[in-house]
Amino acid sequence: MPEFIHTFLPGRVVFGAGTLDQVAAEAELLGVRRVLLIATNSARDAADVVEVELGDRFAGRIDGVTQHVPTEVATAARAKAQETNADGLVAIGGGSAIGLAKAVALTSGLPIVAVPTTYAGSEMTPVWGETAGGSKATGTDPQVLPRTVVYDPVLSQHLPKKVTAASVANAMAHCVEAVWTPKADPITETTAVEGVRALAAGLRQVLQAPTDLDARSNLLYGACLGGSALATAGTGLHHKICHLLGGTYNLPHAETHAAVLPQVTRIKAPTVPQAKARLEDALQTDDLAAGLYDLFTEAGISTNLKDLGLTQEQAQEAARAFDADEILTRAWAGTRPEGVTR
Ligand code: NAD
Repeated sequence: MPEFIHTFLPGRVVFGAGTLDQVAAEAELLGVRRVLLIATNSARDAADVVEVELGDRFAGRIDGVTQHVPTEVATAARAKAQETNADGLVAIGGGSAIGLAKAVALTSGLPIVAVPTTYAGSEMTPVWGETAGGSKATGTDPQVLPRTVVYDPVLSQHLPKKVTAASVANAMAHCVEAVWTPKADPITETTAVEGVRALAAGLRQVLQAPTDLDARSNLLYGACLGGSALATAGTGLHHKICHLLGGTYNLPHAETHAAVLPQVTRIKAPTVPQAKARLEDALQTDDLAAGLYDLFTEAGISTNLKDLGLTQEQAQEAARAFDADEILTRAWAGTRPEGVTR
């Protein structure tokens, strides 16, 4: 056992089908008296329920969010928080809705109750992001870490298959990369291994029965673990490449992970053989990189960047910028990682 230092992040997780009904009580428990509700368009019905249950504690609502938190959207949300005299935030949606709540919390310190409806995992991290003039600034601040996270699998029951699969690829990336970052430790590794187990099982179940609550619970649980692993282990080569591609060429966030992760894993996983073996066991494969590639393919998401609109010249330019020629050449073409035969 190596020597290590691990800092647990504070936070409360409420998990289970029907827990949407507990959101108002959770806000109250935090002492919040005026809630600004932020909801993605697809979570309007859930936001209606919370609005009613908040009663007098409802202060205002923002419906509809934009990916990657554009500065003008963040500025408008901050103004709305002030106008409504909000002393707390409830965010319902994917990484974009939670990201907008974080932008408000960053400048105001307001506590967040996060109710995720995708598997992006942002709700478990103190990482914020804001986009201005085509470039995304990110940072870490304990103020933006949601104080309470309510995971209700009913809310993601109808997440479309493609969005589900891409979002799972994002969560898988949080788990897998968490074993090789400089801050990785045995606790993040165990979290990541259990995350991969839950995500792989959940994705396989969802492909058979998209609305199965047990499958959706597995995926949310895996997302929670992936976010926790990312929050403490930080990010590495994989996330750097994805953020460069997303920021420079406007590629979709979650889908980019599916194309890049198998190729980065092919290079990085052999450097951590014990963790690699544990992740292979969790994924039920004898080669981690190829296993991820095959699972994503089976789930119907693209494992190449050219399908996402990246030109070969852009892939070459990015490869030079990152000294990652092999990874990006293979990710662009979608070459199956070598190591095992199908
Ligand atoms: P998203 O929030 O934009 O949601 C993706 C799509 O799914 C949207 O069109 C949304 O309306 C729809 N959707 C969401 N929930 C749904 C549901 N239950 N049913 C039907 N449709 C639904 O995207 P995302 O992938 O969740 O998050 C991506 C963003 O989060 C990016 O900006 C990324 O940078 C950020 N992110 C941040 C962190 C962090 O730690 N700060 C971690 C992961 C991702």
